Amino acid sequence: TEAWGGVAKGKFLNQLAVISTSWSAWEVLEAIQEIEAELGRTREEPWGDRTMDIDILFYGEEFIDTEKLKVPHPFIAERKFVLVPLLELFPDRKHPISGKTFAQMLRESEDKSEIEPYF
Ligand code: ADP
Ligand code: MG
Repeated sequence: TEAWGGVAKGKFLNQLAVISTSWSAWEVLEAIQEIEAELGRTREEPWGDRTMDIDILFYGEEFIDTEKLKVPHPFIAERKFVLVPLLELFPDRKHPISGKTFAQMLRESEDKSEIEPYF
């Protein structure tokens, strides 16, 4: 996809994973931050080019609203590169906050960026 939100120059590869875990959402967050650090991510500018960004979109049916962790991820509705694969995987599910399907959210999204499948 095109870079979202401004300063990054290159395109991004996006992937959505559904995992089953016995870890808490905070333990998952810690693990993904370790992976990001291992892959050499530095945070020089927000939303800039980076080697890896892993976000938690949902954690079961839980709602978490802290500084460190917000679940469901607050920007799902604004990012087509998230909505397109979510719709593919969960065509009938509704977002627990808005009550909208991902198809509805996609239709209402103002994100005009191009999404190209990558094989
Ligand atoms: P972004 O993902 O918005 O590009 P970062 O990856 O730099 O930005 O994340 C900044 C902070 O966001 C992380 O340090 C983390 O504590 C916090 N955060 C809040 N909610 C989440 C979430 N659902 N998934 C991942 N990080 C989150
Ligand atoms: Mg992140």
